[in-house]
Amino acid sequence: MANPKQTKSEAGAQASENSTTPEFPICSQCGSTRIVKDAWAGWNADTQDWELSSVFDFSFCLDCEGEANMEWRTTPLPRPERIARLNDLLRQGHAPNGKIMSTAGMQARGDVFVSNALREVANFHQFGEDNDPHQEHDFGSFEIDGAKLFFKIDYYAPDLKQGSEDPTDPQKTTRVLTIMLAEDY
Ligand SMILES: [Zn+2]
Repeated sequence: MANPKQTKSEAGAQASENSTTPEFPICSQCGSTRIVKDAWAGWNADTQDWELSSVFDFSFCLDCEGEANMEWRTTPLPRPERIARLNDLLRQGHAPNGKIMSTAGMQARGDVFVSNALREVANFHQFGEDNDPHQEHDFGSFEIDGAKLFFKIDYYAPDLKQGSEDPTDPQKTTRVLTIMLAEDY
């Protein structure tokens, strides 16, 4: 017959093995934790309030303002990775609260040159120690038709008058990506 004390401690050990670290969903695009689900609420006459009754598959990211693919995590994304994801979205033209600008020197080279440059920026992957020491994907250089170009990303408050107080928060940030010729810099 099992010693009751031993049984209890075994049960405890098993419970702690089975207990998992709490998880939460993030948006796999932008890294936001502001994810909501479509759901139905039913009226509860006892509590006099609406109560969650069914949750559906559709997930929505409040920062991307669109459908979210979810990623489950036990720790928040590191700050540089969150910034890098938002910057990557901006380069691809999908950032919440973002603007893409090009310099007058760029525009003087014509629409085809500018659209080629936009495509290069969107597809840019060559981030490394030398051009991206903070791993935020906020700067890059490349060449088109023998011309050297840069892009850089700056973080402004929504009024565009001062810097953003928190570049990891798209609600508090307007990201501005500027594409320029090296000679404009
Ligand atoms: Zn998102």
